[in-house]
Amino acid sequence: MAAPIHPCQRCGACCAAFRVAFHWSESAPHSPSGPDEALTVQVRPFEVAMRGTEAGTALRCVALQGDVGRAVTCAIYDRRPSPCRALQAAWENGEPSPQCDRARARHGLPPLTPADFTTGAG
Ligand code: SF4
Ligand code: SF4
Repeated sequence: MAAPIHPCQRCGACCAAFRVAFHWSESAPHSPSGPDEALTVQVRPFEVAMRGTEAGTALRCVALQGDVGRAVTCAIYDRRPSPCRALQAAWENGEPSPQCDRARARHGLPPLTPADFTTGAG
């Protein structure tokens, strides 16, 4: 039996809804485990954002691959910055996530439910 697909792999809404900002020292080469500096843009004296999420409408992180709401991947998943690691998918750990719900709503997607994380979901 194929492994179930995680709901985030069919979503990506939060990578195309908010500014993804963090301290500049999280980016490489300052932090080798962070995103390359070239993928970021300075937004405040001590803050950078993932390129594509810094401003305006139609935000979309430069590292997001695929179609939001269908099939997506993060090209730098192992080196994604702290805001990406902090954002929880709603109900993944048994708790709601207003940020996840809001991002999905912006893309016309319904909020996740606990059923999205039960065996066989995906
Ligand atoms: S909006 Fe929620 S379900 Fe979609 S990718 Fe982000 S955390 Fe995952
Ligand atoms: S770095 Fe990856 S997880 Fe973070 S916003 Fe960009 S595509 Fe999404």
